[in-house]
Amino acid sequence: MIIDFHSHIYPEKIAAKAVASTEAFYTIPAQGRGTPEDLTRAGRRAGIDRFVVFSAAAVPAQVQSINSYIASVCANREPGAGGGQEQGAAGEPAFTGFGTLHPGMENPGEEVDRIIDLGLRGVKFHPDMQKFTIDDPRMMGIYSLLERRLPVLFHTGDYRYRYSHPARLAPVLDAFPGLTVIAAHFGGWSLFDLALEYFHRRRCYFDLSSSIPYLGHRRAEELIRIYGAERILFGSDYPIWDPGECLGEFRKLRLSSAEQERILSGTALEILAPGV
Ligand SMILES: [Zn+2]
Repeated sequence: MIIDFHSHIYPEKIAAKAVASTEAFYTIPAQGRGTPEDLTRAGRRAGIDRFVVFSAAAVPAQVQSINSYIASVCANREPGAGGGQEQGAAGEPAFTGFGTLHPGMENPGEEVDRIIDLGLRGVKFHPDMQKFTIDDPRMMGIYSLLERRLPVLFHTGDYRYRYSHPARLAPVLDAFPGLTVIAAHFGGWSLFDLALEYFHRRRCYFDLSSSIPYLGHRRAEELIRIYGAERILFGSDYPIWDPGECLGEFRKLRLSSAEQERILSGTALEILAPGV
């Protein structure tokens, strides 16, 4: 089974604009269109069984509509919807949705309840795009609302900003021992080795999206061995990258089949298990 734990989707009518702004932000051409249909096609081509999908709210006013949108896309696409199989209805890749929140929101508690009622299975934050630091005092109340209820995926690391710097996440991990945290991009996009200093001995998971092309195979293998495959998730960062190509790159790493299986699905299933 193959689970891609990091993919972004947008409604058809704004996808082109959203993808263009991501391309501008990261100065890299995107390989996908950013729509659920396009991601479904990419997943079918690559043999990916399930995608964790999300979209970040740039301002508080977008939060509710994005959460409703992600939930509507994931409806009938959760594993089991097609009759107890891992794939969603009609043999398509299943979609598991993560919600969004914003530190400027009036009443985050109500929205956390709504995220759970909508069937979303976690929350994704992009501090650099949402423009808050991970250890922003306004976020502390949000983390306590999420602790022991929903896993949290952070974009981490950008050499240009301080918002998502590993040094901002480390104290949050220490303060919220019951918060399940996934630090995307090996804990620090463009700061991979610096992230290692902060997270080697702390409790969190990582995804390897948008990392292997920058690290190279040898360093990616080394980081997986240092952290341990039991902490790592496969992810593509679609639409920036094509999930099938990411899978091809991942399979070139010299890992044991147990390590591969753990990264492609085992870690994800542990995080998504009910009661996390
Ligand atoms: Zn992301």
